[in-house]
Amino acid sequence: MHDITRALGDKVSEQEIERELSSYLNVYRVSLDTAKRSIVKKHGGNPATLAVGVSKTLRELVPGEQSVNLLVRIVSVNEKDVTVEGETKRILYGILGDPTTTIPFTAWEPLPMTLAKGDIVRVQNAYSKEYRGQVQVNFGFRTVVAKEAADALPEYKPGTGAPYLGKPTPVRVVDLREGASNVQVTARILSVERREVEVDGTPKAVFSGILADETGKTQFSAWKDFGLADGEVIRIDGAYVKSWRGIPQISFDERATITRLKPDLLPPLDVLSASPRMWIEDLAERGGAADVTVRGILIDLREGSGLVYRCPECRRVLRKGVCRLHGEVKGEPDLRVKAVLDDGSGALTAVFDRELTEALLDKTLDACIEAARDAMSTDVVRDELADVLVAQPIEVRGDVTSDDYGLMMIVASAKMLKVDVQTEAREMLEGLEGSA
Ligand SMILES: [Zn+2]
Repeated sequence: MHDITRALGDKVSEQEIERELSSYLNVYRVSLDTAKRSIVKKHGGNPATLAVGVSKTLRELVPGEQSVNLLVRIVSVNEKDVTVEGETKRILYGILGDPTTTIPFTAWEPLPMTLAKGDIVRVQNAYSKEYRGQVQVNFGFRTVVAKEAADALPEYKPGTGAPYLGKPTPVRVVDLREGASNVQVTARILSVERREVEVDGTPKAVFSGILADETGKTQFSAWKDFGLADGEVIRIDGAYVKSWRGIPQISFDERATITRLKPDLLPPLDVLSASPRMWIEDLAERGGAADVTVRGILIDLREGSGLVYRCPECRRVLRKGVCRLHGEVKGEPDLRVKAVLDDGSGALTAVFDRELTEALLDKTLDACIEAARDAMSTDVVRDELADVLVAQPIEVRGDVTSDDYGLMMIVASAKMLKVDVQTEAREMLEGLEGSA
């Protein structure tokens, strides 16, 4: 009753509201919630202001919350099109964080503002569900989202969270996603080393390296000395996933338990160390991956490919002899390629450094500088690269990161795939004749 009056701002008398409420409840036989919302809507109010949801921290959320209020930071946000009941709609999804933890979210209805990473938002009337053993926050048509000042919420610091509740969820390396917490991973330690880092001004030891299962490899950071050793097979219960430039990485601290397993439970070190081949579509869905192999066709060279000049101070590529930061400087020559690689499922930007570019061109940097001098333009180098690379099948291996511009692979090694069209055509013809 009072919440209806409040939502309508005294526009309608209490008697009128009472009469309408009674008819909705007794004549139309709708729920109290629907009745209230209908009345507010009918008189031009905003039903969302009826919100009487409970305020919670993300850590306190359980699956099945109907109406919950949150004050959170947008840790990441993306768009995608989904088909719901035969209709295509655009939804937002990503990660919410508060000082207690991070949790995935989905916004099923358009929001009146754009959300960006780092925004602090107050959310009213959200609901929660369980998805793959994890709590997820959903924004529906009743949910109200409003931006708050940047200092309204302190940042989430991993490793300082409250203990996990419930059993950890088993996850394969390939399925690790940013924001997941309390996961269980069974993997072989490929390498581990101790490093000193500073956390809030205090030196801290972190044990980091690479671990792998049959599905892939990932960087890990252990914030406690578990005595991890190269080659051993372990089960980690209670890890969480953060991402660096889109690549999911696993972290664990004193909340985790480590169980040593039989060494033959997983393939040997050299097999797990291999770089798994992945489709670009899957990399895009994942956000990135460490040390993967992609096969595709180089379809275009991006601007800034070929012979470039870099600022001696910051290594940025100069434009017409000018660094964006340091002004006019004497540039240092370098070679690089930024190419669009398409594998049929999607595309990424593959970045080749000087060494790889020299190998692909079969030409040294000095030879390129000379060629550019003769032609009085650096375009000749770019043109030659385009001749060698564009429309060619190639296999590249490296780390794939992602940002607002899409996926990018820093290529560590590459090989052109020789598809001999004539040989293939002849073999096909012979095959046909043979069967005739
Ligand atoms: Zn500079």
